[in-house]
Amino acid sequence: MKILCVLYDDPTDGMPESYPVNTLPRLEKYPDGMSLPNPKAIDFTPGELLGSVSGELGLRKFLEENGHTLVVTSDKDTKGCVADKELVDTDIVISQPFWPYYLTRERIESAKKLKMAITAGIGSDHVDLQAAIDNKVDVVEVTYCNSRSVSEHIVMMILAMVRDYHNQHKIVNDGGWHIADAVKRSYDVEGMNVGTIAAGRIGYDVLRKMYPFDVHLHYNDRHRLPIEKEKELNLTYHETVESLVSVCDVINISCPLHSETENLFDEELISKCKKGAYVINTARGKIVNREAMAAALESGHISGYAGDVWFPQPAPNDHIWRKMPNHGMTPHTSGTSLSAQSRYAAGVREILECFFDGNPIRNEYIIVQNGDLAGMGAHSYSKGSATGGSEEAANFKK
Ligand code: NAD
Repeated sequence: MKILCVLYDDPTDGMPESYPVNTLPRLEKYPDGMSLPNPKAIDFTPGELLGSVSGELGLRKFLEENGHTLVVTSDKDTKGCVADKELVDTDIVISQPFWPYYLTRERIESAKKLKMAITAGIGSDHVDLQAAIDNKVDVVEVTYCNSRSVSEHIVMMILAMVRDYHNQHKIVNDGGWHIADAVKRSYDVEGMNVGTIAAGRIGYDVLRKMYPFDVHLHYNDRHRLPIEKEKELNLTYHETVESLVSVCDVINISCPLHSETENLFDEELISKCKKGAYVINTARGKIVNREAMAAALESGHISGYAGDVWFPQPAPNDHIWRKMPNHGMTPHTSGTSLSAQSRYAAGVREILECFFDGNPIRNEYIIVQNGDLAGMGAHSYSKGSATGGSEEAANFKK
């Protein structure tokens, strides 16, 4: 079979020859008891860079020894790109959300042999799920592999934004020492109302990690949590997103992007947010209206916006979020720490082993199967497509 793997570019100064940390901590299982990826073997050293082109997710030896062809490229957006040329006779596509190969309907329909799209990570909105359903292309992701990497990042961003870390760090880098400049936007998180839109694997872990900061915790989700989980963290459940945003000082977004959540934070919902709120979004850029959020930061209605997700990706060089005031944006990195990469590389290998051996892929990994949402897809997504406008990614110039 032919496997097309679309990964981000290697570091500009080449692949690392050494790493800051020698060994990764060993995790036994995820908090709900789910086991970590468990392929029969791996051909990489955990902690090394696997998500860039030369890292190849550690798959080449395994695939070639089993008679398959592996094509790896980062060239994914322009007309006539390598990924598009290779796609036409590909059986399986692997792509990471950090550098998504947007599998639009047009692309899916050009790939007559395509059987499966694997997300090396979590969040399969870069695949037109409706087109995958219609064309019986299965979609799977490595559920849980980087959920806790992201929740760590969210906690970091909540603290950084509320305490105004970026401004203070810049003062030091600029050679300054002006304390009043450094603290005029700096607060304690303690006592604040902190809420999350979606309390799935990431959202719930954010609530759990924020609990010791002595804040009031809120959530909204289309599936209400069991009462014991609400009691454990003293959570306030909100039936609607509007209700949550009207009372929270910090609003975290952790729902998948699908037809229900696209453009959820539009001008109207942003206007209902508590004046001065901070918004953190590591879910997907398209959940938040680009212009409306930039305007809310300009006016001061929103005090700060941080996250790592943009639409499209890579974000065009003139994307308005690069220059808006009081933002703490990074490129899409929270789920691709070196720790996370080792888990999703192993998870992709587990999925491929199951597929080639004719064994069932774990239900938790399934988004679309046999022409319908299934597994996690049925729980967390809706039918439809969220890939519209992705061609703008071709505007990014390195
Ligand atoms: P999950 O499936 O465990 O949780 C998703 C939750 O969203 C579920 O509880 C579901 O009920 C809820 N939900 C779905 N639609 C909703 C709606 N309309 N309103 C309210 N709640 C809704 O997934 P997870 O591991 O927590 O990941 C969530 C999302 O985070 C992913 O889909 C992905 O988009 C994003 N993510 C980003 C990164 C990153 O690197 N920035 C990494 C992993 C995941």
